[in-house]
Amino acid sequence: MKEDSPLDLEGLDLLDPVDYDMDIYKVDGDLEVDIHVTYDIKTPCDRCLKMVEETIDSESHVVVTTDEEEDDEANVLLVETLDEFPLAEIVFSQVITSVPIKVLCDDDCKGLCPVCGEDLNEHPDHHCESEGISPFESLKNLFDEKA
Ligand SMILES: [Zn+2]
Ligand SMILES: [Zn+2]
Repeated sequence: MKEDSPLDLEGLDLLDPVDYDMDIYKVDGDLEVDIHVTYDIKTPCDRCLKMVEETIDSESHVVVTTDEEEDDEANVLLVETLDEFPLAEIVFSQVITSVPIKVLCDDDCKGLCPVCGEDLNEHPDHHCESEGISPFESLKNLFDEKA
């Protein structure tokens, strides 16, 4: 089973509809689902803020049940009835939990000058006169005081 999702996932900066496929099994009156989602996301690089497009692949196993006692287990989705398969909810939560917190345009991204914001990838020799105290320096001082 593979089709385009009609889900509205606005606010997540997804570029295209989410592609998903899933296998569904009936086990002891519950439904067990192997879900796999693929989607593209556009998000700023964590260091230089340049927009980055990334393809995310994510899969997991979800148990869909009407049994409230299973509610506190991991990957359990509690539903009122199994007659209506909670397709949107499963796909949505899989996307939500797999959206990367930090994306880098490149593992070697040099980021921005902490003083003036110049892109250090484009100007590797850039150096600001008034460097001031970098966030790392002030952190170091904090630890020195404690020691
Ligand atoms: Zn970057
Ligand atoms: Zn600078």
